[in-house]
Amino acid sequence: MRIILIGPPGAGKGTQCQKLVEYLQVPHLSTGEMLRAAVRAGTPEGVQAGRFMDQGQLVPDAIILGMVTKRLEAADCRDGCLLDGFPRTLPQAATLDDLLERRAMSVDGVVELAVPRDELVRRMLARKRADDNPDIFAKRIASFEVQTAPLLDYYRRQGKLASIDGLGTADEIFARVRAALRGFARHQLPRQRREPSGPEV
Ligand code: ADP
Repeated sequence: MRIILIGPPGAGKGTQCQKLVEYLQVPHLSTGEMLRAAVRAGTPEGVQAGRFMDQGQLVPDAIILGMVTKRLEAADCRDGCLLDGFPRTLPQAATLDDLLERRAMSVDGVVELAVPRDELVRRMLARKRADDNPDIFAKRIASFEVQTAPLLDYYRRQGKLASIDGLGTADEIFARVRAALRGFARHQLPRQRREPSGPEV
């Protein structure tokens, strides 16, 4: 399955992604992690990206798309993957659709982890990660609301969006994620009938 997890900073995407990749046995494609690795390695892309990340801004699409395209073309992503932190803008989503379509593939479903803004701020103050400076955090939330939230409508119109409540324990939330996956799998029934030996979620 090719699944996208979308949620604002602090929504608990990291925890759910860990559980999901183990459950689905697919590679985890996190653009945040790829970027942090590029920053650590000091590559030209990393140096450029780091300037945006430090300000709580999105990294330009050109850098992101180069990185993700290469990764999506790798053999281990042929049968599925979990996309985490990508796409984050409408141009990224459109490029992803084109790229997959050219390979006769598609996104199977998008899970939105919905968490109210005041809860995000409360969590950020409680965990105090290095990149959780309150001003920068507010900018990351704003960039989610302005640049990423429109993706929810984009995927809703494609009939691919499942919005789930991101409040509760990690296990409670993961049960909701699994229920969303079962919904995506139902949409794929015609294809599974042609391929009776296909895996079940
Ligand atoms: P979070 O979801 O907590 O904001 P991530 O680890 O996903 O954190 O991303 C960290 C930073 O990397 C983002 O704030 C942004 O600057 C950059 N980034 C990650 N993915 C993308 C993307 N798809 N497009 C643009 N910038 C990105």
